Amino acid sequence: MNAQESQLHYPFGDDLPPSGGALEVAPGVKWLRMRLPFALDHINLWLLRDELPGPQGPLQGWTVVDCCISKDESKAQWEQIFAGELEGLPILRVIVTHMHPDHIGLAHWLCERWNAPLWISSTDYHTARLSTQNSTGFGGESAAAFFASHGLTDPESLEKIRARANYYPGLVPAVPGRFHRLMDGQAIAIGGRSWTCISGYGHAPEHMALHCAEIHTLISGDMILPRISTNVSVYDTEPESNPLTLFLQSIDKFMPLHKDTLTLPSHGKPFQGLHTRIAQLHDHHRDRLAEVMEACSASPCSGADILPVMFKRPLDLHQTTFALGEAVAHLHTLWFEGKLQRQLGADGIYRFHTA
Ligand SMILES: [Zn+2]
Repeated sequence: MNAQESQLHYPFGDDLPPSGGALEVAPGVKWLRMRLPFALDHINLWLLRDELPGPQGPLQGWTVVDCCISKDESKAQWEQIFAGELEGLPILRVIVTHMHPDHIGLAHWLCERWNAPLWISSTDYHTARLSTQNSTGFGGESAAAFFASHGLTDPESLEKIRARANYYPGLVPAVPGRFHRLMDGQAIAIGGRSWTCISGYGHAPEHMALHCAEIHTLISGDMILPRISTNVSVYDTEPESNPLTLFLQSIDKFMPLHKDTLTLPSHGKPFQGLHTRIAQLHDHHRDRLAEVMEACSASPCSGADILPVMFKRPLDLHQTTFALGEAVAHLHTLWFEGKLQRQLGADGIYRFHTA
C-alpha cells in the first residue's frame, strides 16, 4: 500500500470475491472480480438485486454493471457466476459505465443470452458501435500519424501501431443493436432503490457513474480509482481535445456526496475516503502539469519529449502509446489555459513552448 492509499479506508480489508464467486459489499450489491490478460489484470463488476415490472407482476432478478472483455475465459467466469450467484434468478438488465473493452466487451453476449436490454450513455453506445467496425483511437494508420505528430518517430513502433488496427474489435466483436439511454442526473430504480447517473468526461466519451444516496454507495467506474490514476488521453479521433480539464471538472461532481460514501471502483478495492481521493487526484495532476510546464520552459517539447518527464520507468510500446496520449493531454491543458503555445515544426511534429 502506498502512502496515498493509506489515507483511504478499505472496509473489506484484503478480502476479495472468491474466484468464480461474489462478495456482498452493500445491501443487494455483489462485487465480482474477473481476470484480464493485461498489465491491469482484473476488473470489478457489480450485480445488483433488482425487480422490474413484468406482464404478470414484478420480475425478480439482477442488474449487471459492466461485462468484461469478449474472451472465452471471461465467459467461463460468467458461467460460474450464473451457476453460483444468481439465486436461480435471471439477469434482467445490463448497465455499462463506458465503452472501453473491459466494460462493454461481453455486453452483446450477456444481453443476448438473458434477453436483457443494454443501458448506456448514447455517446458511448455509438462510439462503441463505430469502434467495432473501425480502428479509430487504438491503432491503425490514423493513430500512427497522430503519434508521429507528437514525436513518436521510431519506424518500428509506428509499424506496430498501424498493425494494431484490430485492437478494439478483437476485444469487442459486437455491440447490441439497440440500447436504453442513460443521461446525467437520471434516476434509475434498481431493486426498489433510486440510483442517480453522474456523467463524467475525459476518460471515455460520456462515462456514467451510479450513485445511491440511500445506501451511500457510488459505482464510480473508471472515474475514481483508489490506487492508480485514471487514464486521461488525447486520441487521434479528437486530436485537439482537452480531456484532462474535463476529467478534473468531472471528478468534482462527486464532491457533494456523503463523506462516508462507499466507492466501488472498476479496478482496485471498494473504499471510503472519496473526498480525499478526489483531492489526491487533483494534486497528482497539478504536480504533473508543473513538471510539464518546467520542461517546456527550458526548451520547446513534443509529447514524446515529455514522456521521460512524466513517466520515470521504462515503457513498452503499449504503455508508450497510453503514456503519450496522457502526455499530450497535459500539454493540451496548459495550451488551452494559454500557458503554452503550440507550433508545428517542419518535421511535422508539434512542440509546445511557454507563451
Ligand atoms: Zn475505461
